[in-house]
Amino acid sequence: MVEIFEQHDDIRTFFAELLLPVPIPRLFTYRVPRVFQESIRTGQRAIVPFGERKVVTGVITAIHEQAPREYEAKYILELLDTFPVVSDVQLRLFHWIASYYLCTAGEVLNAALPSGLKLSSESMVQLHPAFSFEETPYSFTEKEALLLRTLAGESMDYTAIATLLGVKNPYNVLKSLAAKEAIILFEELKEKYRPKTDRRIRLTTAYTTAKPLEDLFQTLATKPLQEAVLLRYLQLVHVMQDPGSNAAGLSRKILTDDPELSDSSIKTLVKHHIFEEFDVIVSRFPDEDIHDTPVIPLSPLQQQAHQDILKSFTTHDYTLLHGVTGSGKTEIYINLIRQALEGGSQVLYLLPEIALTTQIVHRLKKVFGTTMGVYHSRFSDAERVEVWNGVLSGRFKFVVGVRSSVLLPFDNLGLVIVDEEHDSSYKQQEPAPRYHARDVAMMMAHMHHAKVLLGSATPSVESYYQAQQGKYGLVTLDKRYGDAQLPQVVLADIGLERRQKTLKGDFTGLLLRKIDETLQQQEQVIIFQNRRGYSPMVNCEDCGWVPKCVNCAVSLTYHQYRHALVCHYCGYKENLPQQCPSCTSARLKTVGYGTEKLEEELNLHFPNAQVQRMDLDTTRSRTGYETIIDAFERGETNILVGTQMVTKGLDFDRVSLVGIFHADRMIHFPDFRSYERAFQLITQVSGRAGRRDKRGTVIVQTSDPEHPLLQLILRHDYRGFYEVQLADRQQHHYPPFSRLIEITLKHADKRVCRQAAETLAESCRTNLPSVYILGPGEPAISKIRNQFLMNILIKVPRAAPNLAQIKSTLLSLTESLTQQKEFRSTRVILDADPM
Ligand code: ADP
Ligand code: ZN
Ligand code: ZN
Repeated sequence: MVEIFEQHDDIRTFFAELLLPVPIPRLFTYRVPRVFQESIRTGQRAIVPFGERKVVTGVITAIHEQAPREYEAKYILELLDTFPVVSDVQLRLFHWIASYYLCTAGEVLNAALPSGLKLSSESMVQLHPAFSFEETPYSFTEKEALLLRTLAGESMDYTAIATLLGVKNPYNVLKSLAAKEAIILFEELKEKYRPKTDRRIRLTTAYTTAKPLEDLFQTLATKPLQEAVLLRYLQLVHVMQDPGSNAAGLSRKILTDDPELSDSSIKTLVKHHIFEEFDVIVSRFPDEDIHDTPVIPLSPLQQQAHQDILKSFTTHDYTLLHGVTGSGKTEIYINLIRQALEGGSQVLYLLPEIALTTQIVHRLKKVFGTTMGVYHSRFSDAERVEVWNGVLSGRFKFVVGVRSSVLLPFDNLGLVIVDEEHDSSYKQQEPAPRYHARDVAMMMAHMHHAKVLLGSATPSVESYYQAQQGKYGLVTLDKRYGDAQLPQVVLADIGLERRQKTLKGDFTGLLLRKIDETLQQQEQVIIFQNRRGYSPMVNCEDCGWVPKCVNCAVSLTYHQYRHALVCHYCGYKENLPQQCPSCTSARLKTVGYGTEKLEEELNLHFPNAQVQRMDLDTTRSRTGYETIIDAFERGETNILVGTQMVTKGLDFDRVSLVGIFHADRMIHFPDFRSYERAFQLITQVSGRAGRRDKRGTVIVQTSDPEHPLLQLILRHDYRGFYEVQLADRQQHHYPPFSRLIEITLKHADKRVCRQAAETLAESCRTNLPSVYILGPGEPAISKIRNQFLMNILIKVPRAAPNLAQIKSTLLSLTESLTQQKEFRSTRVILDADPM
């Protein structure tokens, strides 16, 4: 434990700069206690007092002898690490993210560090109520007393403790005790996140040779219980044949779980120094055995692509692999990863945050075994701490992970693969930092002098444009692996079927027929519909009344299994009324199809088939995805119906039909990326069909079969789609021809919100002459959680000389807005490259 209030006189005084996980755009200077002067290094974590009697964990970014001018530096309370846990490159990256995505480096640090690696007043309060510094019914002194009682027991007062510690001012005692309390609590936290250990038992060295062991049996002849333990141990651990096996010992649990052995005789043997106990650290992750998977030889086309990628790496930092679905991109990645690891560098493989991780992680585990770390948002915090530490210690040279794995402490990255680079789940929406993991990965790779491979069957327009411009290398794989062909896409005309009266509900006769045929042939079906719940809307047939959320400007979605109307934006829930509250009619009907209703109707149409739904509601548990995917893989499920989750990356042998229930809503969504998204989504989900020898079929239900986008999808014409999109983007100054910054203003009062937005837009127009400014306008959903919303869209022309300058001007304009009295409680959110 550390003496915090020491004398400082003759010797040099050191100060440390700390990055704290707070939304304040600056570093903080603290005094380094003498005990830490030798051991302090940048990248270590430290606990420091912050604000009014709070403590936080920060990271040391610099050490110097310059006392701060404006304030009296406080002491560092505790140094948490012997070695740095945040690398220099990481700190540079955090600062880059902060300036590019208009947030603070502290917010980035906060997002990066798993909670197990940071102690704060909040986490301490959870452990110990005495640490609550919020307003409490206690007066200050009562609170002190409470603290002291907890710390020192009932009998002592703090003057006594002051004497004990040799400190004069009792207030300092309190502070120092608070600090010590922090440290005690930190010990508890450390305990909580302590690596998992296994208690082992082994013979002490005195008994590891034949003679002493024989003598020991003599001694134990009259003690059959102890003898039994010894015998069992020797049965399981071959001490004589292999002395090393004694060193590794035996899990104590194996002995205690044995009903024939008594625990107390184990204890006695330990007490008499015949056995000794020790702990070994074990992983929280299952130690899957690596079947020495034979290297899968690449096909000639894959080999060519592999060579082209390596060649591109010699001239480009970034390379785009445009490979159609099922072309075998993953096998190429595996080869590249293996090579990079053999070269001694770290590798990061980024995946979108979705179901597909289950299948791919499984495939990679077989090849890379325990050197591979997996970083996933569904992991517990302790598991995330283990991955973080594993990257630091070199245990994990290779990490497969979702968005946030770009924030891990790599220090020697050689290769980054961004799979499905077009996927919008790479962009963090809320809270700050609102970063795009693909773009951060590219900056990170640049800092490490590493290579980046972006992969997709449907590259984003932005990335493809860069490749066309020669900024990124481009490698193309336009055939599926083996004999597999791209699926046949067929449009099912909803309008026509309605006129011909072959429509059943919203199912076209064509889709129903195809499903039936597919099931007859013992093959599987995937149906995609991008709406969860039963019906997206309920409406009164007599007066047109529609139930709306009380907090948001949206209609409520009916969920049958919960018998409730639910808001998908704020979670608000109410019962479906028996009659219309507006006209008392009982004729309330559900409108439209969510995945629940699809599931129900599929069950009615195909009573012999097993139908499984995969959406947010069925995958909330940690293993939700896995269970559903495993059952489908084993063929126990015949039809899988779901939201976006069924569209990405899945690889099944027996899926020969994919149905897209409603293409129109996707295409007509009011956003400049809606065509791109629809193209990607429909192509990706189609890509799940017929991935082996048999050609698959995709049925797209639409009321607009002549739509040019659908025509492009029919022909699998990515290039055609790209050309059309690019022309459109150029004409309307959208990316890649500009960079967007979206400003969202929030206020409980609609009028204030609008005024604030108008004021800000006005000052942007005055101060930023080189950009286009759209708005302010109301977003499609104009109220969420009782906050009214207004948007301003800034388009910065690609050629604008100083993006960073524009961003910092924006920040200061926003700041001066919220300093005006009437707009003080307006929240302003800046989002760079919004998706
Ligand atoms: P993509 O990621 O491009 O959609 P995958 O890598 O999933 O494609 O490959 C599609 C299917 O082809 C997978 O089932 C995969 O196991 C198989 N495959 C790909 N390359 C090979 C190869 N060289 N040898 C054997 N099977 C392969
Ligand atoms: Zn009504
Ligand atoms: Zn709501």
